[in-house]
Amino acid sequence: MIRFNDILEKVNPYLTNEDIADVTKAYAYSAKVHAGQKRYSGEPYMIHPMEVTSILADIRLDKESIITGLLHDTIEDTLATKEDISRIFGEEVCVLVDGVTKISKLKISSTFEKQAEDFRKLILATGKDIRVILVKLADRLHNIRTISHLPEERRRIFAKETVDLYAPLADRLGIYWIRTELEDKCFEVLKPNEFNEISNTFNAKKDEWEKYSGEVKSMLQAELDRFKLDAIVSTRFKNFYSIYRKMIKKNLEPDKVLDIKAFRIISKDISSCYAALGAVHSTWKPIPGRFKDYIALPKSNGYQSLHTTVIGPFGDKVEVQIRTEDMHEIAEYGVAAHWKYKIDSKERKKLIDLPDSVKNIFETQTLSDPREFIDAIKDELITDFVYVFTPKGELKELPIDSSVIDFAYSIHTDLGNKCAGARVNGSIVPFSYKLKSGDAIEIITNKDREPSKDWLKYVVSSKAKSKIRGSIKKIISKDSEKIGREILGKKLGKYGLDIQSTTVIEKLKEFAIDYEYKNLENLYINFSLSKVNIVEILNYFNLGIKTRNEEKVRNYLNPNNAIIVGGTNNVMVRTANCCRPIYGDEIIGFITLGKGISIHRISCKQILQVDSTRLIEAKWDNSHNVKSSTSLRLYCNDKTGILSEISNLIAKHESNIIKINAKKTTSSKSSIYIEILVKDAKHLYQITKGLESIPDVYSVERLLASSSEFNLFEKNSRL
Ligand code: MN
Repeated sequence: MIRFNDILEKVNPYLTNEDIADVTKAYAYSAKVHAGQKRYSGEPYMIHPMEVTSILADIRLDKESIITGLLHDTIEDTLATKEDISRIFGEEVCVLVDGVTKISKLKISSTFEKQAEDFRKLILATGKDIRVILVKLADRLHNIRTISHLPEERRRIFAKETVDLYAPLADRLGIYWIRTELEDKCFEVLKPNEFNEISNTFNAKKDEWEKYSGEVKSMLQAELDRFKLDAIVSTRFKNFYSIYRKMIKKNLEPDKVLDIKAFRIISKDISSCYAALGAVHSTWKPIPGRFKDYIALPKSNGYQSLHTTVIGPFGDKVEVQIRTEDMHEIAEYGVAAHWKYKIDSKERKKLIDLPDSVKNIFETQTLSDPREFIDAIKDELITDFVYVFTPKGELKELPIDSSVIDFAYSIHTDLGNKCAGARVNGSIVPFSYKLKSGDAIEIITNKDREPSKDWLKYVVSSKAKSKIRGSIKKIISKDSEKIGREILGKKLGKYGLDIQSTTVIEKLKEFAIDYEYKNLENLYINFSLSKVNIVEILNYFNLGIKTRNEEKVRNYLNPNNAIIVGGTNNVMVRTANCCRPIYGDEIIGFITLGKGISIHRISCKQILQVDSTRLIEAKWDNSHNVKSSTSLRLYCNDKTGILSEISNLIAKHESNIIKINAKKTTSSKSSIYIEILVKDAKHLYQITKGLESIPDVYSVERLLASSSEFNLFEKNSRL
């Protein structure tokens, strides 16, 4: 069991005596407020903050982070308040503890949108102070280490959240060892069979592999010594989760992945890295296309190394990574590595700041849409990149599978928007072309070009995606503006008003400002969406339109105000013919161009295919007392009197038949189509149940598509 002394031993070399006194004070305080609490494992609660702090001390974080580690659960789980922490430990610690608490308070959500929302809150809660994330990662790491004590049903959710969000975050910060440990533990929980398969294969091959690698290692070392290189060779194991990913990606059996042997050479300086590479390549044949120089072209999380794959002494593939000790430190500790050296320097502020690659995540413009946001995170967290060149020879880093459109947007939004094609290494390529490292790209522009929805198929970077979506929205509103102006023009024309005349335009501008549409363009857009009542505009022109007219128009706009869209029932809605919702159905609105809002059932197949940015929340007004029509199809025995049996039942349920139609399907069976008026979904359910109970009726089905021209809100039955 961990003791406080273990932590003191770790921080002693780099903290002052004064700092250590503060750390001790934090320990005493935390132990006092957590006293009596237990973890799921039954251990005293205090073990947890101490383990978390020990991880933070391993990466030599500053005094404030160490104290935060000890106190990180006090606000959430004990009687201690933010004010207490601030008073006793100062504002800086208080902000950090509060940040970690905010993250911890986020409920674990199972749905995609919720997770996105959580992650956004997570990033915002950090106040952009990287130490909050580092403490939270240490907290999560210890919780994952002890995940077996969690109740079964929480384990999976917890592991899923960790592998989706925290492991990629650790990767983005370059903290390799935390990422791999989180991944492997979660992998074991989430895919136990696959984990066991890999782990069994690994264990079965372990002895053989160790013998082999010992031999290759000494051969490599002998080669380096022969070239008088000051470098050390070590063997390297891939983590199980990355083996699994490789299996999936390349469709390989686990032993095939495990057969690829990996070695690492740590050398004194950069020039001896390249010399070591030369030694390796002169001894064993390199496999073409497998050499990567991350020293000259570091990854965006700061990772540097030379990677090569060669055909080893026994004819099999051997992966070799070559790097300096400093690079190795960064490869393992990422952003945290810098703390080890720079803790007292002026660079401290810089260290606290999140790196650009993480900031990018929440500086995308898509923050308001959770789905786009999580896409952006996932894109930003991609670890593989291609490196390509601009015509001026500048180097650009882009996510793997990027297209020329991604490239264009990475240079400039206008270049993206006007992108009509591209030349890669001198030849024209299609938009579907996937960029390769080393490509030199020249974008061809056309000033009349506009981004289209199709482009979304070809882009992977979050920047390109959000810019394209933004432009499409702009184009849609340009269209709506045109349509709105046209319709309004026609309507005003009927009253002798010419929309082209300056006086009318001036009056409309006044109206737009008065009624908070801001400007004329926005008024037209809103008019095309039927959000503006024509009567209000006409009244503004003092033409003396009568109230009766207004009522009539209003009725048309929203029959009996039965449906509330976006919080108001003052919009033109119509129920969609594809799914014909009735009162009580769950509904959603779709903003059509120029025809107001169409209301669909939430289960409607059509609505799944539309542009989600044009969907709007809709619900039924509770005071609704309108009957709506709905269609049913019945299959039944063709028997005399069946039609009257059916119509009697419908009358008994106080509904009216609008239309009824029978068709013989076979000699003894027929199908009957009925259109009836119902009060709501419950009413319909009762009628359906009643019809089903008629002995000669086999089935009753509610039809989604309309087969008649009847107005849905028709009040008079036609029978
Ligand atoms: Mn905790």
